[in-house]
Amino acid sequence: MLEIKKGDKVHLPKKHHEAHNICAHLYDLLTEIFHLELYSNLRLTNISLEENSILSQAFSNDKDHVLDILKSHNRNAELEDVLTKHITLSVLSDMLNFIYEAINIAKKGKMSVAYSLLRKPFTDELLILEQILIDKKDFIKRFFHDGEISSYDPSNPKLDKLKIIQSSIKNLNVNLMFNADLIYKLRYDKNTDAGINGLTNKALHIITNRTGYPTEKQNLNFVFSNQEDTKSQWDHFYFAVPLLLMYTTMVVDKIIFEYVEDENKRLVFKNIKRLIASIMLYGKSKNLKSGNLYKTIGKSLATKCHICCNENKFIGADFKLFFYEDIFLCSKCFNPIHFNSETLENFQNALTTSNKFSN
Ligand SMILES: [Zn+2]
Repeated sequence: MLEIKKGDKVHLPKKHHEAHNICAHLYDLLTEIFHLELYSNLRLTNISLEENSILSQAFSNDKDHVLDILKSHNRNAELEDVLTKHITLSVLSDMLNFIYEAINIAKKGKMSVAYSLLRKPFTDELLILEQILIDKKDFIKRFFHDGEISSYDPSNPKLDKLKIIQSSIKNLNVNLMFNADLIYKLRYDKNTDAGINGLTNKALHIITNRTGYPTEKQNLNFVFSNQEDTKSQWDHFYFAVPLLLMYTTMVVDKIIFEYVEDENKRLVFKNIKRLIASIMLYGKSKNLKSGNLYKTIGKSLATKCHICCNENKFIGADFKLFFYEDIFLCSKCFNPIHFNSETLENFQNALTTSNKFSN
Protein backbone atom coordinates (compact mmCIF):
# COMPACT_ATOMS: atom_id res chain seq x y z
CA MET A 1 0.00 0.00 0.00
CA LEU A 2 1.27 3.43 -0.93
CA GLU A 3 -1.05 5.34 1.37
CA ILE A 4 0.14 6.17 4.88
CA LYS A 5 -2.58 5.17 7.33
CA LYS A 6 -3.03 6.50 10.85
CA GLY A 7 -0.58 4.76 13.17
CA ASP A 8 1.81 3.63 10.39
CA LYS A 9 5.42 4.04 11.43
CA VAL A 10 7.25 5.79 8.59
CA HIS A 11 10.40 7.89 8.25
CA LEU A 12 8.58 10.56 6.28
CA PRO A 13 7.89 13.67 8.41
CA LYS A 14 4.23 14.24 9.20
CA LYS A 15 4.08 17.49 7.21
CA HIS A 16 4.46 15.47 4.00
CA HIS A 17 1.91 12.75 4.79
CA GLU A 18 -0.96 14.54 3.07
CA ALA A 19 1.04 15.20 -0.11
CA HIS A 20 2.19 11.58 -0.07
CA ASN A 21 -1.37 10.28 0.27
CA ILE A 22 -2.54 12.62 -2.47
CA CYS A 23 0.13 11.03 -4.69
CA ALA A 24 -1.14 7.58 -3.70
CA HIS A 25 -4.70 8.48 -4.70
CA LEU A 26 -3.66 10.20 -7.93
CA TYR A 27 -1.74 7.01 -8.72
CA ASP A 28 -4.99 5.09 -8.14
CA LEU A 29 -6.79 7.33 -10.66
CA LEU A 30 -4.39 5.88 -13.22
CA THR A 31 -4.38 2.24 -12.10
CA GLU A 32 -8.20 2.07 -12.22
CA ILE A 33 -7.82 2.24 -16.01
CA PHE A 34 -6.40 -1.27 -15.90
CA HIS A 35 -9.00 -2.91 -13.68
CA LEU A 36 -12.37 -1.17 -14.08
CA GLU A 37 -14.84 -2.50 -16.64
CA LEU A 38 -15.52 1.12 -17.64
CA TYR A 39 -12.25 1.15 -19.57
CA SER A 40 -12.72 -2.17 -21.40
CA ASN A 41 -13.09 -0.37 -24.75
CA LEU A 42 -9.44 0.54 -24.50
CA ARG A 43 -8.48 -3.08 -24.94
CA LEU A 44 -10.57 -3.70 -28.06
CA THR A 45 -11.42 -1.93 -31.29
CA ASN A 46 -14.37 -2.83 -33.48
CA ILE A 47 -13.62 -2.93 -37.17
CA SER A 48 -16.58 -3.22 -39.49
CA LEU A 49 -16.02 -5.70 -42.28
CA GLU A 50 -18.22 -6.29 -45.27
CA GLU A 51 -18.84 -9.96 -45.84
CA ASN A 52 -16.44 -11.50 -48.35
CA SER A 53 -14.61 -8.18 -48.80
CA ILE A 54 -10.88 -8.22 -49.46
CA LEU A 55 -10.34 -6.91 -45.94
CA SER A 56 -12.40 -9.65 -44.28
CA GLN A 57 -10.47 -12.23 -46.30
CA ALA A 58 -7.21 -10.66 -45.17
CA PHE A 59 -8.34 -10.95 -41.54
CA SER A 60 -9.22 -14.60 -41.98
CA ASN A 61 -5.59 -15.18 -42.92
CA ASP A 62 -4.08 -15.22 -39.46
CA LYS A 63 -0.50 -15.14 -40.74
CA ASP A 64 -0.58 -11.35 -41.12
CA HIS A 65 -0.49 -8.94 -38.23
CA VAL A 66 -3.64 -6.88 -37.73
CA LEU A 67 -1.71 -3.60 -37.94
CA ASP A 68 -0.12 -4.58 -41.26
CA ILE A 69 -3.53 -5.59 -42.65
CA LEU A 70 -5.07 -2.26 -41.64
CA LYS A 71 -2.12 -0.37 -43.08
CA SER A 72 -2.10 -2.19 -46.40
CA HIS A 73 -5.86 -1.60 -46.77
CA ASN A 74 -5.60 2.11 -45.89
CA ARG A 75 -7.85 1.73 -42.86
CA ASN A 76 -6.00 4.55 -41.17
CA ALA A 77 -8.74 5.65 -38.76
CA GLU A 78 -8.99 2.18 -37.21
CA LEU A 79 -5.21 1.84 -37.23
CA GLU A 80 -4.95 5.13 -35.37
CA ASP A 81 -7.45 3.94 -32.75
CA VAL A 82 -5.74 0.60 -32.22
CA LEU A 83 -2.30 2.18 -31.89
CA THR A 84 -3.41 5.10 -29.72
CA LYS A 85 -4.98 2.72 -27.22
CA HIS A 86 -2.13 0.22 -27.33
CA ILE A 87 0.71 2.75 -27.02
CA THR A 88 -1.07 4.75 -24.31
CA LEU A 89 -1.85 1.73 -22.14
CA SER A 90 1.58 0.18 -22.62
CA VAL A 91 3.50 3.37 -21.87
CA LEU A 92 1.23 4.14 -18.93
CA SER A 93 1.68 0.67 -17.46
CA ASP A 94 5.46 1.08 -17.50
CA MET A 95 5.23 4.60 -16.07
CA LEU A 96 3.10 3.36 -13.19
CA ASN A 97 5.69 0.74 -12.21
CA PHE A 98 8.32 3.46 -11.86
CA ILE A 99 6.03 5.96 -10.17
CA TYR A 100 4.84 3.41 -7.61
CA GLU A 101 8.38 2.51 -6.59
CA ALA A 102 9.50 6.16 -6.54
CA ILE A 103 6.71 7.22 -4.18
CA ASN A 104 7.08 4.15 -2.04
CA ILE A 105 10.83 4.54 -1.64
CA ALA A 106 10.57 8.31 -1.00
CA LYS A 107 8.42 7.46 2.02
CA LYS A 108 11.42 5.52 3.36
CA GLY A 109 13.83 8.41 2.75
CA LYS A 110 15.95 6.64 0.10
CA MET A 111 15.92 9.76 -2.03
CA SER A 112 18.65 8.98 -4.56
CA VAL A 113 16.68 5.86 -5.59
CA ALA A 114 13.38 7.80 -5.53
CA TYR A 115 14.78 10.50 -7.81
CA SER A 116 16.46 8.07 -10.18
CA LEU A 117 13.05 6.45 -10.73
CA LEU A 118 11.36 9.73 -11.72
CA ARG A 119 13.36 10.26 -14.86
CA LYS A 120 11.83 7.71 -17.23
CA PRO A 121 8.14 8.36 -16.45
CA PHE A 122 8.22 12.15 -16.26
CA THR A 123 10.93 13.21 -18.71
CA ASP A 124 10.56 10.52 -21.37
CA GLU A 125 7.27 8.62 -21.23
CA LEU A 126 4.99 11.52 -20.37
CA LEU A 127 6.36 13.36 -23.41
CA ILE A 128 5.13 10.53 -25.64
CA LEU A 129 1.65 10.74 -24.11
CA GLU A 130 1.60 14.53 -24.51
CA GLN A 131 2.40 14.17 -28.21
CA ILE A 132 -0.40 11.63 -28.63
CA LEU A 133 -2.75 14.04 -26.88
CA ILE A 134 -1.76 16.98 -29.07
CA ASP A 135 -1.84 15.21 -32.42
CA LYS A 136 -2.12 11.44 -32.41
CA LYS A 137 -2.19 11.25 -36.20
CA ASP A 138 1.18 12.97 -36.39
CA PHE A 139 2.68 10.83 -33.61
CA ILE A 140 1.47 7.61 -35.21
CA LYS A 141 2.86 8.72 -38.54
CA ARG A 142 6.27 9.23 -36.98
CA PHE A 143 6.12 6.13 -34.78
CA PHE A 144 4.44 3.58 -37.03
CA HIS A 145 4.32 4.70 -40.66
CA ASP A 146 7.80 6.27 -40.77
CA GLY A 147 9.17 4.24 -37.86
CA GLU A 148 12.28 6.41 -37.59
CA ILE A 149 13.33 6.27 -33.91
CA SER A 150 14.92 9.74 -33.91
CA SER A 151 11.58 11.29 -34.87
CA TYR A 152 9.85 10.12 -31.69
CA ASP A 153 12.78 9.66 -29.30
CA PRO A 154 11.95 11.88 -26.27
CA SER A 155 15.65 12.67 -25.84
CA ASN A 156 15.91 14.14 -29.36
CA PRO A 157 16.94 17.79 -28.73
CA LYS A 158 14.99 18.85 -31.82
CA LEU A 159 11.71 18.14 -30.01
CA ASP A 160 10.50 21.49 -28.67
CA LYS A 161 9.48 20.26 -25.23
CA LEU A 162 8.17 23.57 -23.90
CA LYS A 163 5.95 23.95 -26.95
CA ILE A 164 4.68 20.38 -26.50
CA ILE A 165 3.78 21.12 -22.86
CA GLN A 166 2.09 24.40 -23.81
CA SER A 167 -0.01 22.67 -26.49
CA SER A 168 -0.82 19.82 -24.14
CA ILE A 169 -2.10 22.20 -21.43
CA LYS A 170 -4.13 24.07 -24.05
CA ASN A 171 -5.68 20.75 -25.08
CA LEU A 172 -6.56 19.89 -21.49
CA ASN A 173 -8.77 22.96 -21.46
CA VAL A 174 -8.76 23.43 -17.70
CA ASN A 175 -8.26 26.86 -16.33
CA LEU A 176 -5.56 27.80 -13.88
CA MET A 177 -4.44 24.33 -12.90
CA PHE A 178 -1.10 24.14 -14.69
CA ASN A 179 1.68 26.49 -15.65
CA ALA A 180 3.63 25.30 -18.70
CA ASP A 181 6.86 27.03 -17.68
CA LEU A 182 6.81 25.40 -14.25
CA ILE A 183 6.08 21.95 -15.64
CA TYR A 184 8.87 22.43 -18.20
CA LYS A 185 11.35 23.58 -15.55
CA LEU A 186 10.51 20.70 -13.23
CA ARG A 187 11.12 18.17 -16.00
CA TYR A 188 13.71 19.57 -18.37
CA ASP A 189 15.53 22.66 -17.14
CA LYS A 190 19.19 21.68 -17.15
CA ASN A 191 20.36 24.93 -15.59
CA THR A 192 19.01 24.31 -12.13
CA ASP A 193 18.90 21.57 -9.56
CA ALA A 194 15.36 22.67 -8.63
CA GLY A 195 13.94 20.38 -11.31
CA ILE A 196 14.01 16.62 -11.53
CA ASN A 197 16.38 16.75 -14.51
CA GLY A 198 19.32 17.86 -12.40
CA LEU A 199 18.30 15.78 -9.40
CA THR A 200 17.77 12.55 -11.37
CA ASN A 201 21.13 13.07 -13.06
CA LYS A 202 22.74 13.57 -9.68
CA ALA A 203 20.92 10.51 -8.34
CA LEU A 204 22.13 8.37 -11.24
CA HIS A 205 25.68 9.70 -11.56
CA ILE A 206 28.19 9.90 -8.75
CA ILE A 207 29.79 12.98 -10.38
CA THR A 208 28.01 15.56 -12.56
CA ASN A 209 29.88 18.29 -14.41
CA ARG A 210 27.04 20.28 -15.92
CA THR A 211 26.86 23.97 -14.96
CA GLY A 212 23.33 23.79 -13.55
CA TYR A 213 23.97 20.94 -11.13
CA PRO A 214 27.70 20.30 -10.71
CA THR A 215 29.05 18.10 -7.97
CA GLU A 216 30.68 20.35 -5.39
CA LYS A 217 34.41 19.99 -4.75
CA GLN A 218 35.34 17.17 -2.38
CA ASN A 219 31.82 15.74 -2.72
CA LEU A 220 30.04 12.84 -4.43
CA ASN A 221 26.39 13.15 -5.50
CA PHE A 222 23.81 12.11 -2.89
CA VAL A 223 25.99 9.55 -1.03
CA PHE A 224 26.93 11.92 1.78
CA SER A 225 23.36 13.18 2.26
CA ASN A 226 22.67 13.90 5.92
CA GLN A 227 19.31 14.31 7.64
CA GLU A 228 19.05 17.97 6.65
CA ASP A 229 19.72 17.10 2.99
CA THR A 230 17.05 14.40 3.05
CA LYS A 231 14.58 16.87 4.57
CA SER A 232 15.13 19.36 1.77
CA GLN A 233 14.89 16.54 -0.82
CA TRP A 234 11.55 15.51 0.69
CA ASP A 235 10.37 19.15 0.50
CA HIS A 236 11.22 19.22 -3.18
CA PHE A 237 9.93 15.73 -4.00
CA TYR A 238 6.54 16.37 -2.39
CA PHE A 239 6.21 19.67 -4.22
CA ALA A 240 7.18 18.38 -7.67
CA VAL A 241 5.75 14.86 -7.80
CA PRO A 242 2.10 15.57 -6.86
CA LEU A 243 1.98 18.33 -9.49
CA LEU A 244 3.53 16.16 -12.22
CA LEU A 245 1.34 13.23 -11.26
CA MET A 246 -1.83 15.32 -11.35
CA TYR A 247 -0.86 16.66 -14.76
CA THR A 248 -0.15 13.09 -15.96
CA THR A 249 -3.60 11.90 -14.86
CA MET A 250 -5.17 14.71 -16.89
CA VAL A 251 -3.13 14.00 -20.01
CA VAL A 252 -3.98 10.29 -19.83
CA ASP A 253 -7.69 10.86 -19.19
CA LYS A 254 -7.92 13.36 -22.03
CA ILE A 255 -6.53 10.73 -24.42
CA ILE A 256 -8.51 7.72 -23.23
CA PHE A 257 -11.97 9.14 -22.49
CA GLU A 258 -12.45 9.65 -26.20
CA TYR A 259 -12.89 5.86 -26.29
CA VAL A 260 -14.76 5.34 -23.03
CA GLU A 261 -18.55 5.15 -22.75
CA ASP A 262 -18.76 7.25 -19.63
CA GLU A 263 -22.45 7.00 -18.76
CA ASN A 264 -21.89 7.57 -15.05
CA LYS A 265 -19.64 10.57 -15.61
CA ARG A 266 -16.52 9.09 -14.05
CA LEU A 267 -14.43 11.75 -15.79
CA VAL A 268 -16.29 14.53 -13.97
CA PHE A 269 -15.70 12.79 -10.63
CA LYS A 270 -12.02 12.37 -11.51
CA ASN A 271 -11.88 16.10 -12.29
CA ILE A 272 -13.48 16.88 -8.93
CA LYS A 273 -10.78 14.76 -7.27
CA ARG A 274 -8.02 16.60 -9.12
CA LEU A 275 -9.47 19.93 -8.08
CA ILE A 276 -9.64 18.80 -4.45
CA ALA A 277 -6.03 17.57 -4.70
CA SER A 278 -4.88 20.94 -5.97
CA ILE A 279 -6.73 22.75 -3.19
CA MET A 280 -5.22 20.44 -0.56
CA LEU A 281 -1.75 20.90 -2.01
CA TYR A 282 -1.69 24.58 -2.87
CA GLY A 283 -4.76 26.09 -1.18
CA LYS A 284 -2.83 26.85 2.00
CA SER A 285 -0.92 29.73 0.46
CA LYS A 286 -1.85 33.26 1.53
CA ASN A 287 -3.48 34.18 -1.77
CA LEU A 288 -5.72 31.14 -1.91
CA LYS A 289 -8.11 30.39 0.88
CA SER A 290 -9.03 26.73 0.71
CA GLY A 291 -12.31 27.27 2.64
CA ASN A 292 -13.49 29.74 0.00
CA LEU A 293 -12.45 27.45 -2.81
CA TYR A 294 -14.39 24.54 -1.31
CA LYS A 295 -17.39 26.83 -0.80
CA THR A 296 -17.37 27.81 -4.47
CA ILE A 297 -17.20 24.21 -5.68
CA GLY A 298 -19.68 23.16 -2.98
CA LYS A 299 -22.24 25.63 -4.32
CA SER A 300 -21.85 24.38 -7.87
CA LEU A 301 -22.42 20.79 -6.74
CA ALA A 302 -25.27 21.56 -4.29
CA THR A 303 -27.66 18.62 -4.36
CA LYS A 304 -30.88 17.65 -2.64
CA CYS A 305 -30.67 14.27 -0.88
CA HIS A 306 -33.04 11.84 -2.61
CA ILE A 307 -33.89 10.24 0.74
CA CYS A 308 -34.34 13.02 3.31
CA CYS A 309 -34.57 15.98 0.88
CA ASN A 310 -31.87 17.90 2.75
CA GLU A 311 -30.24 20.51 0.52
CA ASN A 312 -26.54 19.60 0.71
CA LYS A 313 -23.93 22.26 0.16
CA PHE A 314 -20.65 20.49 0.53
CA ILE A 315 -17.72 21.82 2.58
CA GLY A 316 -14.04 20.94 2.88
CA ALA A 317 -14.60 17.81 5.00
CA ASP A 318 -17.07 16.44 2.40
CA PHE A 319 -14.56 16.99 -0.38
CA LYS A 320 -11.75 15.33 1.53
CA LEU A 321 -14.01 12.37 2.26
CA PHE A 322 -14.79 12.10 -1.44
CA PHE A 323 -11.12 12.39 -2.39
CA TYR A 324 -10.09 9.53 -0.12
CA GLU A 325 -13.22 7.35 -0.05
CA ASP A 326 -14.93 8.11 -3.36
CA ILE A 327 -18.24 9.03 -1.75
CA PHE A 328 -20.31 12.11 -0.91
CA LEU A 329 -22.67 11.71 2.06
CA CYS A 330 -25.81 13.64 2.97
CA SER A 331 -25.00 15.84 5.97
CA LYS A 332 -28.37 15.02 7.59
CA CYS A 333 -29.10 11.31 6.99
CA PHE A 334 -25.57 10.17 5.97
CA ASN A 335 -26.80 8.28 2.92
CA PRO A 336 -24.71 8.47 -0.27
CA ILE A 337 -25.53 11.41 -2.53
CA HIS A 338 -26.56 10.76 -6.12
CA PHE A 339 -25.81 13.69 -8.39
CA ASN A 340 -27.97 14.35 -11.40
CA SER A 341 -26.29 14.67 -14.79
CA GLU A 342 -27.18 18.34 -15.10
CA THR A 343 -25.30 19.24 -11.90
CA LEU A 344 -22.26 17.29 -13.05
CA GLU A 345 -22.34 18.82 -16.52
CA ASN A 346 -22.61 22.32 -15.05
CA PHE A 347 -19.63 21.58 -12.83
CA GLN A 348 -17.63 20.32 -15.80
CA ASN A 349 -18.50 23.42 -17.83
CA ALA A 350 -17.48 25.70 -14.99
CA LEU A 351 -14.16 23.88 -14.76
CA THR A 352 -13.35 24.14 -18.43
CA THR A 353 -14.86 27.38 -19.63
CA SER A 354 -14.59 29.98 -16.92
CA ASN A 355 -12.51 31.22 -14.05
CA LYS A 356 -15.27 30.36 -11.64
CA PHE A 357 -13.01 28.29 -9.41
CA SER A 358 -10.19 30.77 -9.31
CA ASN A 359 -11.07 32.45 -6.02
ZN1 LIG B 1 -30.29 12.77 3.37
